[in-house]
Amino acid sequence: MAGQSKSYMALLNERTIIVAIVFTLALMWSVGQLTFLGGIIVGAVAAVSLTQLALKRRIEELEKRRALMQERKKAEKPSTVSIGAQALDRLPSPFILVDSTHRITVANMAAKTLLGGDIVGNDVSLYLRQTEFISALETILKHPASEFRVIRHTTSNDRSFDVTIAPVPQQSSGQEQSGAMIFFYEVTSLIRAEQMRADFVANASHELRTPLTSILGFIETLIGPAADDKDAHQRFLGIMQTEAERMVRLIDDLLSLSRIEMTRYVAPEMDVDIKKLLVNTVSTIAPNAMARNIKFECNIPDDLKPVRGDGDQLTQVLINLLSNASKYCDPDSTVHISANSCLDDQKIQILIRDEGPGISEEHLARLTERFYRVDTARSRKMGGTGLGLAIVKHILLRHDSNLEIKSEVGRGTTFRFKLPISKNAAQ
Ligand code: ADP
Repeated sequence: MAGQSKSYMALLNERTIIVAIVFTLALMWSVGQLTFLGGIIVGAVAAVSLTQLALKRRIEELEKRRALMQERKKAEKPSTVSIGAQALDRLPSPFILVDSTHRITVANMAAKTLLGGDIVGNDVSLYLRQTEFISALETILKHPASEFRVIRHTTSNDRSFDVTIAPVPQQSSGQEQSGAMIFFYEVTSLIRAEQMRADFVANASHELRTPLTSILGFIETLIGPAADDKDAHQRFLGIMQTEAERMVRLIDDLLSLSRIEMTRYVAPEMDVDIKKLLVNTVSTIAPNAMARNIKFECNIPDDLKPVRGDGDQLTQVLINLLSNASKYCDPDSTVHISANSCLDDQKIQILIRDEGPGISEEHLARLTERFYRVDTARSRKMGGTGLGLAIVKHILLRHDSNLEIKSEVGRGTTFRFKLPISKNAAQ
């Protein structure tokens, strides 16, 4: 509408000028001041000027329209591009596009974080040097109709990715060329889980094989060279019994671990009298500890509230921690057990402290891993399976809790965890 009214204005102005010229010429003609030829010349000059004026206006108008169209186009184009770029940047997996010369033309934020902020414009083989990757990329660029390829890539800081390379046609100076998209899918945690499973099977087999080999060795000796040696019979049968018991404990611990893992996401709902549990566990363990003159000192308030949990599993936690404390602490020392309520987070805190040799810092983070021991030979000699603390950790995870271990070499170790106060008893 505005453009239309402007052109009306222009037309009006031109018409006004023509009318004014014709009127002036007529006036001059009527008063005899204008010759016929002069009139024609003036008229022609006026007509040419008017036409030029009209043309100039038309050109100006067209230029204005074109500028307006270009501005609109500019405004539209970046927004489409930026939506695509923003979407790619929000993609948590690295993504890059390369042209037919291996040059990176597009890289999202995740790719820049992984490979470097200034990768665009550089050759992709600077960052992915594997020959397997480079030859896959070449094949895809040479044969754009080929299938995508997946290559496993591991970075210098041990992150692993499945890298998919797929052909993507690209435009370059109006010509269609073959390019490729490279997409990184992180598989680090999958590989770690796979590795842990494989390690676990290898460790469990090794732990079972050791006592089994020893039992088989003694059986062979008893059948062969020591067949008539009555003393050897007694001694060897005793060792075989110990080894067989270790195998039974190991299988029991493995079964417990798998049962605990099965209930990992089932919240325990029982009310457990934790004071009674502590006192009962101490009286179960104390007779064995007496042999090394180890005392247990309990500091548990009489009005300790019950906790929400699974009674059998919590008994296992206490047995494992208290038997470790009495097993690893020095003879003639004391194991301290204390419990107290933390009313701010409605939890009961339990501490088990021994006066043993302590554990040095570098072992602490790994103690709850399956089969991890500070001193494997000592643990085995004491009948340990290397699964006690792993069981504790998994039971506590089910109880929404975790095991804190503090230790000072030469002074002793403290194990601490919290359990939620039972809902029926909470204030
Ligand atoms: P194990 O059957 O070997 O005792 P655990 O999982 O119970 O297995 O413990 C793992 C390792 O942690 C033990 O082998 C031992 O080296 C160390 N450890 C556990 N408790 C104590 C403790 N109270 N004092 C010193 N070392 C301990």
